[in-house]
Amino acid sequence: MTKVFHFDAPREKYQCDAAIVWCFDNRFQLGFSKYLKRLGVVNSDPIKIAGGAKSLASPEHETDREFVLDQIKKSIRLHGTERVILMLHSDCGAYGGLAAFGGNAAAESKHHEAELRTAAEWLRRALPQINVQGYFVDFEGIWAVDAL
Ligand SMILES: [Zn+2]
Repeated sequence: MTKVFHFDAPREKYQCDAAIVWCFDNRFQLGFSKYLKRLGVVNSDPIKIAGGAKSLASPEHETDREFVLDQIKKSIRLHGTERVILMLHSDCGAYGGLAAFGGNAAAESKHHEAELRTAAEWLRRALPQINVQGYFVDFEGIWAVDAL
């Protein structure tokens, strides 16, 4: 191999502030990252997959759910993670986009809130000790699911 770049990465293990199950849709990367920083999430274990928390709420394949759960368990084991942040967003291709809701943003938001609740319930059953938070991200901001 040829060295093409140099940097110094920290060698110490870190305590993970949150494992984040979010969608890889890049349109929401910057805004949600800024919010995570505001939440105090510095060291995160990102689990970035198409659809984000959909894999826990309504997975395309049951194995998707097991895969995500396994990633979260590894984060807990390796980095002492105590919190999981679930994310869904507007116009997500994994749900057929905003078009799947007839372009009705309110209907989409309501649906995704229910999905986040389903994902959180499932995750709590699988990992009772974990702290779960859920967020819906649209083109104008970030919405926390109340009393999750
Ligand atoms: Zn998406």
